[in-house]
Amino acid sequence: MKAEFKEDAYHALSAEDVLAGIEASPTGLSATEAAQRLQLYGPNELPATPARHPVVRFLSHLNNALIYFLLAAAVVTWSLGHFVDASVILAVVLVNAIVGFIQEGKAENALNAIRNMASPQATVMRDGHRSRVSVADLVPGDMVLVEAGDRVPADLRLMHARGLLIEEAILTGESVAAEKREDPVPVEAALGDRTSMAYFGTMVAAGQGSGVVVATGVKTEIGRISTLLGSVQELTTPLLRQINRFARRFTWVTISGAVLLFLFAVFARGFAWPDALIAIVALSVGLVPEGLPAVITITLAIGVRRMAARNAIIRRLPAVETLGATSVICSDKTGTLTRNEMTVRRIVVCNDEILVSGSGYSAEGEKLFEDEGSEMFPDRGHALTLARAGILCNDAHLRKSANGWIVHGDPMEGALVTLAMKAGFDPENIRAEWARVDEIPFDAQHRFMATLNQVPHGQKVILVKGAPERLLEMCSMQAGEDGQVPLDPGYWTVRIAEAAAEGERILGFAMKPAPASACRLSFGEIEKDLIFLGIMGFIDPPREEAVAAIAECHAAGIAVKMITGDHAATAAAIASQLGLGDNPAALTGHDLDNIRDEMFEATVRETVVFARTNPEHKLQIVRALQRGGAVVAMTGDGVNDAPSLKQADVGIAMGQRGTEAAKEASQMVLLDDNFASIVSAVHEGRTVYDNIRKVVAWTLPTNGGEALTVVTAILFNFTLPMSPVQILWVNMITAVTLGLVLAFEPPERGVMRRPPRAADAGLLSPFLVWRVIFVSLLFLGGALLIFFNALDRGLDVETARTMVVNTIVILEIFYLFNVRYFHMTSLTWRGAMGTSPVLIAIGVVFVAQLAFTYLPIMQRLFATKPVSIADGILIISVGVIAMVILEGEKYLMRRFGLLD
Ligand code: ATP
Repeated sequence: MKAEFKEDAYHALSAEDVLAGIEASPTGLSATEAAQRLQLYGPNELPATPARHPVVRFLSHLNNALIYFLLAAAVVTWSLGHFVDASVILAVVLVNAIVGFIQEGKAENALNAIRNMASPQATVMRDGHRSRVSVADLVPGDMVLVEAGDRVPADLRLMHARGLLIEEAILTGESVAAEKREDPVPVEAALGDRTSMAYFGTMVAAGQGSGVVVATGVKTEIGRISTLLGSVQELTTPLLRQINRFARRFTWVTISGAVLLFLFAVFARGFAWPDALIAIVALSVGLVPEGLPAVITITLAIGVRRMAARNAIIRRLPAVETLGATSVICSDKTGTLTRNEMTVRRIVVCNDEILVSGSGYSAEGEKLFEDEGSEMFPDRGHALTLARAGILCNDAHLRKSANGWIVHGDPMEGALVTLAMKAGFDPENIRAEWARVDEIPFDAQHRFMATLNQVPHGQKVILVKGAPERLLEMCSMQAGEDGQVPLDPGYWTVRIAEAAAEGERILGFAMKPAPASACRLSFGEIEKDLIFLGIMGFIDPPREEAVAAIAECHAAGIAVKMITGDHAATAAAIASQLGLGDNPAALTGHDLDNIRDEMFEATVRETVVFARTNPEHKLQIVRALQRGGAVVAMTGDGVNDAPSLKQADVGIAMGQRGTEAAKEASQMVLLDDNFASIVSAVHEGRTVYDNIRKVVAWTLPTNGGEALTVVTAILFNFTLPMSPVQILWVNMITAVTLGLVLAFEPPERGVMRRPPRAADAGLLSPFLVWRVIFVSLLFLGGALLIFFNALDRGLDVETARTMVVNTIVILEIFYLFNVRYFHMTSLTWRGAMGTSPVLIAIGVVFVAQLAFTYLPIMQRLFATKPVSIADGILIISVGVIAMVILEGEKYLMRRFGLLD
């Protein structure tokens, strides 16, 4: 790059000088040149937030009240000469911290991996064509196109700006969007006054523009002042906070209870204080669910990964939970419920209607007029005018690839290019001949697009395409058989209704001659006295998978609403093809504006199809649904959708069609823009919530069971059925094995056949509380039964204790199988087989228990004795009996509808 001017001064140079200085051209760089420059300048990235040092991360797992308590206990036990106990306590602390550390690392990696999947893209000119590239691949000299909703992908010197407004608050602090132009500004202009520049990271609020990249990465303005952009994903959710709070409170209750029990043991039961202290420490360690928050984090992270595999990228972790509670999904139509593969099927002009053959974007072998070469029939001229307007008032390009023709730009505009080719036009030629002088881009708010074009060898012409009702309001005349005649709105309304009833998306066309001197388009000029040319009907078939997904939602008690900018009749026809009701009545945005306030909520709740809505209507709809208690997921793609995406409980942006503004406002991004992926995400969301409940439902009573056994012994004054060090052993060995596996559970079969959970339902539902008590008592029963039976048979205390420890572990394993299915019996082949994490965990526990029971060194450390085969069978029988009781309880609960 020539360095003959100060690099900072691009804003003051003319467009030509900038291009020359940076060795670029208005048609962009070639792919090879771009690749070379990428080598030279490096990727267009800002340094990532420095990750926390692993040591700091590890230590953070030691930073809680329970761990301090445990460490203190270890010191005391050590000083009392109980070295084994002290070592096991330290091992518990370490194992937990290591497991927490590894799990948190895995969760963070999972989130980072998916964040990269939704990395931002930019539109650039490469090899003379528009293409989408990753923002990181931009290089100085690239010609970039930006439009409303985009985040500016590098520092740009604007070459062209049309109504371009850019929010630069992150750089200048100025909250009002700055108006941008191509003209250079004085060298001394401050950052906020450099209207010829667009800076990396700022947001395009309106309009369109193009500019050449003058700086990338850390060389950009944002790179210089701060090195960070974008927020760091927080590893927390409301549920996780609820659980952390619960765990903290539980710890303190346990510690206080332990102190009381200690006093009771020493003063009322005459325990020697060191023995009592060790017993109580072990008890507390056994009771407190120290591993719970980490297991839940990993459950959420697994959910995020599974969702990503199904094309739903979670941007904010709480969405994983909320998705499971979603009761209404509000979806766009075009591209989400339909394929967004458009084909012009019908052309209607003042005196005729032509049905167009062919499908897809290929025009090969298709002709608009079968009678080519024969007499030109009267309406051919009108149809040609319409087809020409369609290609000129159009920004899309078609390119042939190995998989057929693909559209760069809006699919509907792509279909217009195909149509023009079918009509015999050469898109490149006609666009060159009728060069565009100015344009007003399409916007969902005004629903039309207009261009000012040069007429070959003559004047200029304004061409407008857009929603037909909107255009009819702007026209006073129409193209008749012999020149202009007054507009006949009645005729057009009937023709529009006919096409819409077939589910066609309709576009109207109009024109207006302009003087040769015209060079700018203004709204005032085109909003009146246009000449209506005709309409075209496009087919956009529903996605087949959306039909199935909608049926799944209905079975799952989730209402689906279509909110579209399209015509009411088109929307209703497509809705009925999708199974959203039998010819559902569509409510238009206009109808919504006229509903009385007190009726609004009920009407919105009952309506399935909303048509001709604008982004404000979307916001009103979400709010009304939320007031009625619904948990709303809503899709959006445009810059104006940001408020409703933020308002929705789960805002969902389209990965392909969506603007950066929509993506940033949303909690989830759909990589494939497909409605079915939302439903898959809900399915995963429900599974995650189920699994979290399963983790809790397993952890609390297994801890409770162990603790209760010891507390009962102290209260009722009999020999402890497990020694303190044995309690610590059980806790350590099961926490890192059995405690983890429920995070990996696949969905239960009926997950999408039950209604969504109530949004405000607490995690510890009455059913779960009952389960904790019931299962703790069952464990107590099993353990005491074995203990006293062993003593009665004259076995020594060591053997009896070894049997109790094994019983507790066996009960934990059987209960694990039971809890894997909340809503159905576990006594099935699938239930018995388990999953690989379940089987691995059981394998590890089994080997550990064999070592604990039979290995001489372990026998010395833990004071265990070998257990006979007959006793082993007895222990397993206790597990089997417990399983039968638990399944019976589940059956009864289900029978009486007490499961929740
Ligand atoms: P959805 O909100 O479900 O995606 P939609 O894509 O039909 O529906 P909009 O994009 O807001 O909604 O379009 C509304 C109407 O504006 C369309 O029905 C069409 O008549 C018109 N329209 C859409 N795209 C263009 C365009 N590129 N140029 C001119 N008019 C357009």
